[in-house]
Amino acid sequence: MFADIGLAVEDVAATMNATSFVDGTTSQAQIGMLVNQQYANAVGAATVAQLFANSPGLSGWSPPGGTAYLRPSDMSNGLFGLGTNWQLLVHETLHQMLGFQRDDNWIMTELQNKGYRINPNSPRKSRQISDVIKKKCN
Ligand SMILES: [Zn+2]
Repeated sequence: MFADIGLAVEDVAATMNATSFVDGTTSQAQIGMLVNQQYANAVGAATVAQLFANSPGLSGWSPPGGTAYLRPSDMSNGLFGLGTNWQLLVHETLHQMLGFQRDDNWIMTELQNKGYRINPNSPRKSRQISDVIKKKCN
């Protein structure tokens, strides 16, 4: 399924290995520094912790730069329970590689065009991508 969105599996593995996964709910990292101030203003949050507090459905957020921010309670075994919700780690790794321009909407459209069963009208876009990762990469 990685090839279907233009990525080589070994590149996904290498990027995942190079990505730091940290607790987003307590991170005081400045969104204006991680992305830019315009983005911070648009999402209405100065810090990553505020972004997670404002977005109860947000499981992960991956700005460019090698760090992915996660909600530990969505990781089943805590932040480093890698055996449980690894599809979320892969999902965030894809964002590290694809950037904000090719977001969940872009990934969903690509997968749908390649014949994956995806409902673009679902409010849980992010979850559907993780489900495809779980189904196809097991
Ligand atoms: Zn996503």
